Amino acid sequence: MPAMRRPHARRRACVAVVVALLVLPTAAARAADRTVLAIGAHAGDAEVTTGAILARHKRLGDRVVMLHLTLGEGGNPKMSPAAYGEQKKREALAAAQALGAEVLFGPWKDGELRDSEEAARWVADAIRQVKPTHVITHWKASLHPDHEAAHRIVDAAVLLASLEGFESAHPRHRGVRGVYYADNWEDAEGFSPYLYVDVTEDLAAWKSAVTSYEFIRGGISSFPYLEYYEALARVRGAVAGKRFAVALEVDLFGKRRVLESLP
Ligand SMILES: [Zn+2]
Repeated sequence: MPAMRRPHARRRACVAVVVALLVLPTAAARAADRTVLAIGAHAGDAEVTTGAILARHKRLGDRVVMLHLTLGEGGNPKMSPAAYGEQKKREALAAAQALGAEVLFGPWKDGELRDSEEAARWVADAIRQVKPTHVITHWKASLHPDHEAAHRIVDAAVLLASLEGFESAHPRHRGVRGVYYADNWEDAEGFSPYLYVDVTEDLAAWKSAVTSYEFIRGGISSFPYLEYYEALARVRGAVAGKRFAVALEVDLFGKRRVLESLP
């Protein structure tokens, strides 16, 4: 895995304001009125980190969608990017089917994702088409530049998608209730679990989906993906009082609570 570092771009103040206005989901949120959109830099990122949450929401009757910005086709030293990209796409389709998720693919190449206006506009148009109520993507700090770029692109795209002034083939979408950041081993710097989702009944579906990918079954990367994320779900579950849970982080402004009195 690349371990390049680059300074984090300062978040746009206007994006922070919009996030402050988003409403965190509550137990009162009705099932079946949600569309959860998970956006990952590479095919496999969304499934391995938050696939169990997607499986849970599918089971609750919600619509779940994944957007893979790149195929992550550069991750297999034994195969050409073209051949591995074909494999990753087949694996992504199988994983989506196992989760009951729709799947979309971005046009970018592995390692070439950039925080650009063009990328934000493309993702904003995808958001307008999918009309998510909840968006999950990468945390802001990562070992992988593609992950950091995805974080910034998605934050900008959620805002753009809501603006009347941004013209695209689809009408604006202002229905995003929350943007959440995934618990990813590559995106760990400064990640502090904020929200825990009980996935005890969904871990089997998650495992079935993620093992569609050869890199998760083992043999490509030395990183033990399956063991790590299953153990992580147990660790997050332990502190949440559940058997298995998946943790999410939110923007600092998303943690602001304004009450009439102490809860
Ligand atoms: Zn990745």
